[in-house]
Amino acid sequence: MAEERVNVIGAGFAGSEAALTLSSLGIPVSLIEKRPEKSMEHFRNSPNFAYPVCSNSFKSMEIKNAHGLLKAELSVMRSNILKEALKAKVKAGKALAVDRDVFSESVKHLVSERKNIKVLNKNATADDIKGITIIATGPFSSKEILDYIKERVKKDFFHFIDAVSPIILRDTIDFSKCFIASRYNEGNDYVNCPMTKEEFEVFHDAIINAERLEYDDTDKEVFFSGCMPVEEIARYGKRALVFGVMKPVGFDKKHYAVVQLRNENKDGTMLNIVGFQTRLKWGEQKRIISMIPGLEKAEIVRYGVMHKNPYIDSPLCLNENLEMKSEEGVFIAGQLTGSEGYMEAVLTGIYAGFSAYGKIKKRSISLPPDTTMSGSLLRYLLKSEKSISPMNANFGLFKEYNKREKLFYAKRALKDIYGWYNETAH
Ligand SMILES: Cc1cc2nc3c(=O)[nH]c(=O)nc-3n(C[C@H](O)[C@H](O)[C@H](O)COP(=O)(O)OP(=O)(O)OC[C@H]3O[C@@H](n4cnc5c(N)ncnc54)[C@H](O)[C@@H]3O)c2cc1C
Repeated sequence: MAEERVNVIGAGFAGSEAALTLSSLGIPVSLIEKRPEKSMEHFRNSPNFAYPVCSNSFKSMEIKNAHGLLKAELSVMRSNILKEALKAKVKAGKALAVDRDVFSESVKHLVSERKNIKVLNKNATADDIKGITIIATGPFSSKEILDYIKERVKKDFFHFIDAVSPIILRDTIDFSKCFIASRYNEGNDYVNCPMTKEEFEVFHDAIINAERLEYDDTDKEVFFSGCMPVEEIARYGKRALVFGVMKPVGFDKKHYAVVQLRNENKDGTMLNIVGFQTRLKWGEQKRIISMIPGLEKAEIVRYGVMHKNPYIDSPLCLNENLEMKSEEGVFIAGQLTGSEGYMEAVLTGIYAGFSAYGKIKKRSISLPPDTTMSGSLLRYLLKSEKSISPMNANFGLFKEYNKREKLFYAKRALKDIYGWYNETAH
């Protein structure tokens, strides 16, 4: 008898990993991905898989760091995405950062090479959710998929906001117009671009009149809850910026306003403009940034974005295997579960893959031990007694924890995840 096929919707971090996990276990997969598509233009419209829409950093590699430990555990679990990330890595100190195009192209290549994965390029709808299905459509889930889930969980989605400031290349800054300092002589961590009153007034006028992306009602609701685009802050009046994100205080010399830039990567070759999260159109961002003294010729490598990230109340809606309580055979993975971060999405992808495998083979799949980062995060997402908030890997999730014993916890976690993986994957 032919082996039951699993549908995976979304070839992002979670979906690609889930498809590859199932494929390695010998289960045929149909993987549906809608990229590239027009509505993604503001987040780079890549046709590739597991595309990092924002930072290219997957955070620390050190096992004494929670993110590093999660990666070490994912490596024990034979994470395909992590393997491709290591191949595509760029210099970033103790962190793992990737060349995003090389990385996501190689994930797509790896998936496409697998004989038992059929890739379909289309916008999946509820009709595609049949038989055993893993929904991993992430922050850019289409409305049809969100409606499908909403109908079954009988609850609205929660959401959180990713606010990203523009990132520019350090060697395109004109340092004759900027100075390096932290406020109140507390180090040298920032590049500061000072403005005169006249320069500020022209700048203010330009930013409030620049063209923005349309807002919907929920955006407005979120902005007013404290996550404001810089152009909206500016609309409150000139003083809003000068007393806020562009305040000139804490420096030896007096300035009217100061824009600060902070290292984006370890080498300091990229810097983000502090507090400049924005919904301006890209051309407008370029024009406005070029009005900041020292940034006239700055090369923008990443434009600012603000985006809503939907997620469900997983402990209420999913069982211990990421399967919907109201829809047998339908699993949810990735950011929709309330996991936050690329590698966290990968973890849910592997676990959803194993869970779907267990469903087909009629084998019970248990959560990884609570002594591991993976087990602790999945327990938070699936077994919390209260509603969850988006969560990434951190030692605070451990049942017992003493910060002086990080190495002990890390070594124990690796031993325990190894045991769990051997039992689960074989
Ligand atoms: C603006 C922004 C910035 C972020 N910055 C960071 C960051 O710096 N670091 C970090 O760790 N995390 C960041 N995140 C979170 C990050 O997106 C997630 O951690 C991770 O990508 C989620 O993985 P996922 O697999 O759930 O979703 P994704 O990786 O986004 O994958 C979902 C896939 O599903 C596809 N899809 C959606 N609907 C359909 C459909 N109907 N049919 C077919 N395909 C569909 C999408 O095109 C996409 O390829 C950011 C998120 C956003 C939105």
